[in-house]
Amino acid sequence: MVVVMKFGGSSVADGKRIQAAAKLVKAEKGPKVVVVSAMGGVTDKLIKIATSVIDLPNTVVEREVSRFCRELTMQQRKAVIGAVTNKKERGEVLSQSLELIEKLRVALLGVGYLEDLSPKSLDYIQSFGERLNVLVMSGALNSISVKSASLTGFEAGIVTDSSFGRAHPLHSKSRKQVNSILGSHVKNKITPVVTGFIAADEKARITTLGRGGSDYTASLLGNYLKAKEVQIWTDVDGILTTDPKLVSEAKLIPTLSYVEAMDLAYFGAKVIHSKMIEPAMTGRIPVRVKNTFNPSCEGTLIVSRQKKVSGVIKAVAVIKNVVIVNLEGVGMAETPNIAGRVFSCLGEANINILMISGSSESNLSFVISESDVERALDALGMVFTNNFLKSISVLEEVNVLTVVGAGMRGTKGIASKVFATVAEADVNVMMIAQGSSEVNISFVIESDDVEKAVKSLHGEFIG
Ligand code: ADP
Ligand code: ASP
Ligand code: MG
Repeated sequence: MVVVMKFGGSSVADGKRIQAAAKLVKAEKGPKVVVVSAMGGVTDKLIKIATSVIDLPNTVVEREVSRFCRELTMQQRKAVIGAVTNKKERGEVLSQSLELIEKLRVALLGVGYLEDLSPKSLDYIQSFGERLNVLVMSGALNSISVKSASLTGFEAGIVTDSSFGRAHPLHSKSRKQVNSILGSHVKNKITPVVTGFIAADEKARITTLGRGGSDYTASLLGNYLKAKEVQIWTDVDGILTTDPKLVSEAKLIPTLSYVEAMDLAYFGAKVIHSKMIEPAMTGRIPVRVKNTFNPSCEGTLIVSRQKKVSGVIKAVAVIKNVVIVNLEGVGMAETPNIAGRVFSCLGEANINILMISGSSESNLSFVISESDVERALDALGMVFTNNFLKSISVLEEVNVLTVVGAGMRGTKGIASKVFATVAEADVNVMMIAQGSSEVNISFVIESDDVEKAVKSLHGEFIG
């Protein structure tokens, strides 16, 4: 049985880190499949250049694209020199990298000159971060005598539908192909290094699985290959009781159930992507989150069993950059299924609703990501015209705070203790929701209050 080892952007952010990650791969005995993200920050940069060149005058496009590609080449060259110690291997990786960057340059020029960036083009452009990085990781492995080959997610067998930007894998076809392709690599004692995040549709056009999607690639491969374990290697010791960037006393959680981990990830603990849990859970594949910079730490193990801990609440998560949308209108009271119509129109616009508050006859509130606001207002405006909705208001500068723990299920008085704690910290709660799994309670507060709210809950329930 294989182990899938996924390295996130910060773990493979430069040559030295890639070399250290390669050594961790070598140290894992037995067959393995490696999944690699782009170097930290590169996907953001690719999106930025792609979206900025469409607004530039044609005379400036070429200069900007050349400048970008020059900088990317320098970063890639440095990484290759730092990680790929074998001279022959290094030469090959460098020339393959230059070929890829040339393809990127042509694509960016096309987008810039045509002033047209479709989701399809954006996926193609975003894919270069991972495509460049698998070359380096594979070269680093070959340099330390771990026979390896680099593959895109598509070359590894993952096929998706054509929802560019957030594509869905076609499981049965992907499963068959992945087993045949990666299976034969493993049989021949070659360690495949696969791009996270990207795949392609049935017409072989590159798709992406959504931001942070490399975790998802790892668990898909784990599921298809019936892996022994999926390892998520990152820059913290595992899943902690809260984001260590918010509360420095955050402690490691040794085990979590799939449901707890999914809730935590969904509600903001970005250390793993919430979408990665489903393939692992259905395949009953254990997930281990580990620290590339502190590999001797056991990390967090995610399995089926919901382990209750004393204190009931295991962790506190925060989602930033969200808004509350509030719909008010007299017409709402007389119109049947208003909530259904609102949510289906947002669903059609591919907008994810994070939280909904109980609606009254003339009022309905929900939370969405800040980046979806414009599209949400357009979609709602098209469906609900003039006199129907008296007003749509958007409340900015808010955060969703969530407490998670399997022990909350059936434990009386937890909600009142949670809200008493935040009230004592002088924090105003604007909206509340409890998941049906009963392992989480979420509420919305002003962003200025988030630090004191998290600290007070962490201090009271986790210590
Ligand atoms: P990678 O580059 O490995 O994909 P990410 O940046 O996506 O890593 O996720 C790791 C980061 O997640 C950590 O540096 C940490 O700041 C943040 N984080 C948020 N909540 C948690 C939590 N509960 N436990 C651990 N890390 C968390
Ligand atoms: N590189 C992609 C991103 O930044 C995917 C990932 O890192 O998981 O979103
Ligand atoms: Mg990540």
